[in-house]
Amino acid sequence: MAYAYDDQNIFAKILRGEIPNKTVAETDHTLAFEDIRPQAPVHVLVIPKGPYVTYDHFAAEASDAEIVDFHRTLSRICAEAGITADTAGGCRFISNAGEHGVQEVPHFHMHVLGGRRMGRMIEQHD
Ligand code: AMP
Repeated sequence: MAYAYDDQNIFAKILRGEIPNKTVAETDHTLAFEDIRPQAPVHVLVIPKGPYVTYDHFAAEASDAEIVDFHRTLSRICAEAGITADTAGGCRFISNAGEHGVQEVPHFHMHVLGGRRMGRMIEQHD
């Protein structure tokens, strides 16, 4: 089934300037802003400006320029926040997708979390 993009999602509204955000970085194709409920000292959301629902959707359908710009912007944010694994303590990247991934906002976003040691990656459920 093809992905259907809901342009009323909260990140689409942020991209249209309808609700405010604390911008960390912005390029032609990418926006990064602080998560409203931070779960670590650094908690930035990196999103493409295009209408992609999940990471796999973005990876399949975005242009090369969008894909490169997204990842280079993410890299720059990590360096500027001082959370890279080569020079600092490291960080975690999370992208939830769909119901099983417990995705709340249906616009692809990468959580960039750092500034503290993270817990185990996946909480166990029976
Ligand atoms: P996910 O469960 O991966 O879809 O995560 C959605 C994230 O968006 C959560 O961490 C929320 O705290 C965050 N969030 C929701 N609304 C906003 C907003 N208006 N500004 C910044 N972050 C938000």
